[in-house]
Amino acid sequence: MRLSDAKRRELCRGVRELLVRLGAAIGLAVGLLVALERPQPAASAACKQPAEQSIGACVNETVLATALAFVIAMGLGLVVGALVGLLIGQLLPGRERPGRRTQPAAGRAVPAAIPGGRWITARYAGVCHSCGAPIAVGDHVWHRPRRTSCAACG
Ligand SMILES: [Zn+2]
Repeated sequence: MRLSDAKRRELCRGVRELLVRLGAAIGLAVGLLVALERPQPAASAACKQPAEQSIGACVNETVLATALAFVIAMGLGLVVGALVGLLIGQLLPGRERPGRRTQPAAGRAVPAAIPGGRWITARYAGVCHSCGAPIAVGDHVWHRPRRTSCAACG
């Protein structure tokens, strides 16, 4: 199966979004499980007082502490899960790399516009077309099609 570039990017983006959501959902579930497994918060000061005076406050504090523990555990799970999903998504092949797409393959010379020539680093030894001076590999030379001049003549 051959997909166009746009379709493939779209697919990858969809898969990455799915991974983030899946990670968030799993994180949420794990957070919930952790909160459920967690021992109940220690009885607060209100709970240690004679029941008839403090039963309301004790229940309130316990419920609040439990709810808070759930919210924290689930929130953490959500964030961590989403981040893990995001990271896994980044490892997918074919991800977009900003700035890479428009650049040519490494090691391939870019044929710049050469109406009047351009400065290049000599890749072959030779002689200057104008003055006959020797050109060594690595020299800065003025290059035109079939003519190469030394830096002095360029
Ligand atoms: Zn020359």
